[in-house]
Amino acid sequence: MLTMIREFLQPTIAMLTSLFMSISALFGTAVAPAPERAPEDYDNVKNVIYLIGDGMGPNHLEKTKNELGIELTMDTFEYTGRSRTRSASSSVTDSAAGATALACGVRTYNGALGVYMYDPLNAESHPKSLTELCEENGMMTGIVTTDLTSGATPGGFSVHTFARTNTWDIDTQQMASDFDLIWGGTSEYVSKETCEENGFTFVKTYSEMMALEEGSRSFAQFDNSTWTDEQADAETPTLSQMAVKAIDLLDDTDEGFFLMIEGAHIDKHSHSNYDEGMTEALKEFDETIALVLEYAQQDGETLVVVTADHETGNITLNDDGTYSFTQGSHSAADVPLLVYGSDTFIEDGETVDNIQIPQRIAYSLGFTAEQYPFEVFAAWVDDAKNLIGQK
Ligand SMILES: [Zn+2]
Repeated sequence: MLTMIREFLQPTIAMLTSLFMSISALFGTAVAPAPERAPEDYDNVKNVIYLIGDGMGPNHLEKTKNELGIELTMDTFEYTGRSRTRSASSSVTDSAAGATALACGVRTYNGALGVYMYDPLNAESHPKSLTELCEENGMMTGIVTTDLTSGATPGGFSVHTFARTNTWDIDTQQMASDFDLIWGGTSEYVSKETCEENGFTFVKTYSEMMALEEGSRSFAQFDNSTWTDEQADAETPTLSQMAVKAIDLLDDTDEGFFLMIEGAHIDKHSHSNYDEGMTEALKEFDETIALVLEYAQQDGETLVVVTADHETGNITLNDDGTYSFTQGSHSAADVPLLVYGSDTFIEDGETVDNIQIPQRIAYSLGFTAEQYPFEVFAAWVDDAKNLIGQK
């Protein structure tokens, strides 16, 4: 009977699989195209600091310079390019699919965190994030954000779940993880007890964060209202304070470290078209990048990659030379890609697909194609075959 059902279902499933593949062909590459360079052709680095300005398009930089009358460290990078941000389900991505692309090298549907679009319930397999890849290979790993720790960007770098709204699942997976630090705003189901059971030092304030010592693992739940409402609170660290302390804690090993730093409020203030809020958030993100570059220059073995998950607000240039928001949602615009510490990561002026960025990071860290395959498409087909029992 089972065999009969199987025989009956197989052509149907095979048909669905080929339909999926046709759809993905229709949407353009669902996965990265073949590499231009072999994995071993990338400059080798020891550490990676990956900075994501949520919602930051090229005109966010122009608007900030224009309105605040400042220069930006982001304009000083030797290698600058662009990243195409589309998701598997839309030309306009959300932050969950965007983070999955930037963390796992896989295009998924909007709302998904670290799962394949054809296996949203993670029944058979899920893509591996850079954070997991690095952690499994003995590197120190950290996630720092001004969003809630369960936000879409930190989520894409740490968990696997079918919807970004699965807060309980996200909190639970993060508390059970082996990462060295997860810092951000307070999320609903994170508890001091569970964090401590899993070996994390639980942190609530700036002073507690500063008191952390090398060798400790920490889970920070700061007062999110401080960042959101821009009320100065000496007990809530700024993004740059978190970044400097996180580097200090992770920079303690021969195996190297991977640190993702997200500036979340560029996006949030762009959704509400709040000019001053956005430019201040971008300035803070830029100041964080300056401190990160200072470290990388001294260290000499650190790759710094700056990009965004998508553009928010569709900022355009006006006739009078000013810049304005023209919508309250995400746009399909390409976003900046800035690189320090590798001459082979991008060619200056190159535009890449977002999913190529983590693959290039993996190869820059010396991981092989087996450990972090460029041929995700091949894995995708294998997984699809496994799902229908055609091994
Ligand atoms: Zn957004």
